[in-house]
Order: sequence, then C-alpha cells, then structure tokens
Amino acid sequence: MQSNTEKIDIKALTLEELKASLKTIGEKEFRAKQIYEWLHVKLARSFDEMTNLSKELRTKLASEYELVCVTELERYESKIDGTVKFLFRLPDGNVVECVLMKYHHGNSVCISSQVGCRMGCRFCASTLGGLTRNLRTSEMLDEVYQLQRLSGERVSNIVIMGTGEPMDNYDNFVKFVRMISSLDGLNISQRNITVSTCGLVPKMRALAEEGLSITLALSLHAPNDEERVKIMPVANSYKLQDVLNACDYYYEKTGRRISYEYSLVDGVNDTAACAKELSRLLKGKNCHVNLIPVNPIKERDYKRSTGNNIQNFKNILEKNRINVTIRREMGSDINAACGQLRKSYTDKTMVQEVEQ
Ligand code: SF4
Repeated sequence: MQSNTEKIDIKALTLEELKASLKTIGEKEFRAKQIYEWLHVKLARSFDEMTNLSKELRTKLASEYELVCVTELERYESKIDGTVKFLFRLPDGNVVECVLMKYHHGNSVCISSQVGCRMGCRFCASTLGGLTRNLRTSEMLDEVYQLQRLSGERVSNIVIMGTGEPMDNYDNFVKFVRMISSLDGLNISQRNITVSTCGLVPKMRALAEEGLSITLALSLHAPNDEERVKIMPVANSYKLQDVLNACDYYYEKTGRRISYEYSLVDGVNDTAACAKELSRLLKGKNCHVNLIPVNPIKERDYKRSTGNNIQNFKNILEKNRINVTIRREMGSDINAACGQLRKSYTDKTMVQEVEQ
C-alpha cells in the first residue's frame, strides 16, 4: 500500500490536470468532470461519498489519490455579531486559524496561507514561532470548503489575511485563486477576493501580470522607511517607494484600487505628523486606507491607540481627500488577535506533551 506522501493530491489538480491524471490510471476523461464536481462543488470529504461512481472506481481513486481535508479542532463564536474563529487541523497535525464573518451581503471568510510566518512583523503573533511550512493549494481550498460546510451557507467573499504571507507561498496561492474562482468550482468572483501582503515587491509585480482581478491590500503601517523598518523587518529588503511603485503598477495593470492597511499603535505610528506624512505619500492615488486599531499581544509591549488618536488620524487623511475607514471590529468578545489562537493552542499542546 502507498503512503499518503506518494499519493497524488487530487484536490490540488485543475480539471485539465485531473483529466490527464485519470488517463494515466486507465480511466476515461469524462469521469474527471464528475469527480471534480464532487470535490469542488459538492465538497465531498471522502471518495465513498461519490455515489455516482462505481465502488470499484472509488476504491481505485482512494489507492491512487490523497484527499486533503482540514478538520475543526476548536471554535470561538461571538455573541455580538456571530463571527466565528476556528482552529483547523491539517492532515499532518499542524493547525491554522480561519474566521467566518457574517454580513448582510453574505459570508466572508479569512483564511491562512502558511503555518506560521517568517516575515517578523513586530505587532503580529503569527510570526513568533517563525515559519513551519507553506499551505498546499488543496489545504487553502479546503479551509474555504470547510467554512462553507460548517456554516451551511455559501461563502461570497474571501480575504487571505490569516496567518502567513501569501506572496511567500506564491504558486500555491495563485493556483488557489484560479481554482476557487473557476466556473467548474465554487465560482467565487475574483472581485470578491482580497490578498494581503507585507510588500514583497517582485511577487507583487508578478501578481500584476497574472491576469487576475483580485484586490491587493498592502500592509503599510508606517509612512516612511525609518519607522516602517522598526515594525516590519521586510522594509530592510524593500524600500517604501519601491513598494508603492509596485502598488501603482498593480493598479495600472488590473484597474483594481489598492487597499492600504495601517495598524495604529499607540505613540508609535498614530501621531498627527504620521497622518500628514501618510497623506503626502498617498495623495492623488486611487486608493483606500483601512485603519486598524491594533490588538495588543502579550509577548510585545504594543498598545492600542486611543479613540481620540484614531479619529484625529482619520480626520487628517480625510482633509487630504484620502478615502479612509476604520476597520470595524468583528467578534470583539472573542478578541484574539491574528495568530493568537494558534499560538495558545500550540503552547497548550507543548505543555501537555512536557507533562506527560
Ligand atoms: S502580519 Fe502577516 S506578514 Fe507580517 S508576520 Fe504577521 S502573518 Fe506574517
């Protein structure tokens, strides 16, 4: 019997790839469409669910292919707005965080692209243990599928803003976007997909060339290199002007307005001087600024900006005709910052292992 690692990851195959793969095991091409539908529309979690295939074929598929699914480990549900944060277990035992947010216009999900992260942003809990590994395309797809299965409702919007830097897992992430938006799959509009990056310039430029129409959100967080490098080590590698030029290039190529994410940290980047500098930087650009009152994490001594400072910051941007919103806090009663659920889960598991 083959081990899982030798089996082909069937959920990561496009319809064309599946057709070619089935041919190599002596199956007819038309089967591909049926199987693809089971995997990506009916969201089957096992080959046995594929009841319009013969038992013999199902057994054959199970011996040739691995069917990657994530499993719910823990959930935290907000009593205020119904937001649910999940910890999902991956097939190898690693865990990732995902969030399901319910809006009037539909369900929005936030998914992870890596286990951990190596970007080292100072305000982020996801990076404290470094990068463990990239998520496979199939794992990213199944985060969305599992959230749709669990909610029983269609997912309409996806943000790839959970743990990880998607551009650091570029090929798997781009394939994920193509597959989740495919007419043969869940057919989620690319216009309803947003990817966040801390500013990996060459990958941002490559993404502009992919012919996709997803929204790019840049984690900006400071209006100059001097301040940015203090909170985002990636700024050592890519200067702010080069990052902004890459954003302009993305806009030119795709016509999609850039979203600039700016986490406000008390006394660090939330001053009036910072707001004025940010206004000068973005003036005249067709963009949107999303102000995020930062969630404190216990390992770092960053504090959340005061309500006054947040409002002043917003006012200054607005005076300069910059489109700005303060991110609405979802699930404030289950207020674990990004990466903290996974971290507390792995810390807890390690303590249990040591105690045993
Ligand atoms: S904010 Fe994003 S890119 Fe930065 S360390 Fe956290 S997960 Fe990585």
